[in-house]
Amino acid sequence: MSNPREYQTEAVIIRKTRLGEADRIITLYSPTLGKIQAVAKAVRKPKSKLSGHLELLTHSEVTLARGRNLDTVIGSQTINTFLPLRKNLEATSAGLYLAELVSLFTAEADRIDNRRLFNLFVSTLEQLSLNTGCELCLRYFEIQLLSHAGYRPQLKVCAGCRKPLQPVTNTFSPGAGGVLCAGCALHQALPYSISVNGLKVMRLFQDCDINTAVRLKMTGELNQELEKLIRSYCQFILEREVRSAAWLDSLRLCP
Ligand SMILES: [Zn+2]
Repeated sequence: MSNPREYQTEAVIIRKTRLGEADRIITLYSPTLGKIQAVAKAVRKPKSKLSGHLELLTHSEVTLARGRNLDTVIGSQTINTFLPLRKNLEATSAGLYLAELVSLFTAEADRIDNRRLFNLFVSTLEQLSLNTGCELCLRYFEIQLLSHAGYRPQLKVCAGCRKPLQPVTNTFSPGAGGVLCAGCALHQALPYSISVNGLKVMRLFQDCDINTAVRLKMTGELNQELEKLIRSYCQFILEREVRSAAWLDSLRLCP
């Protein structure tokens, strides 16, 4: 029988920080235990057997020992390193942006079974590895994440008066949690225009799978429209900016 203090879980490494001389604190996102912080001892030493299995964005099977404060990682076996993603700066940055969003939208050790969010995270990292276009992956992930986290924006009817939305340019309001008709949008703070096509893409991304999403043809203009309003919605919910989004923007400005 294994030690009752030990447990195993599948997880993706979403954050790591230095601790002391050679240790790290690793933040893992797991499908059934939520977000876990654990100490990985001596992983910054050159001969560490664990370190390769605990790189950021690695999907691993991790063994942990329960501690009084933090748990300790005692073993790790890599399931997927998403190697092609690591060789592409834009895809790596997009992956780190996903990890930051997962971290911000989930509570620590919430013990909530969130396999759907975990699977979304892993399948989006896989798509980024396939180099299928970062922007579609990111928009799809953001819209799906909002649903899994309980903030699914109202896109079918007006979020104010509940009347059906007309096929015209409408208004997206972070505060109202969705799209507003012209009448309800009049006195809104922070309104964003949402075009007919923008609304169609958001509705599709709420309900389709990732393979369908990445096959879509989306103009740069439409992507920018959606990116702007989804980011403002995330910022409104989180009451803070997502730091890695600024880094993604700066990469785009590079020639
Ligand atoms: Zn209305």
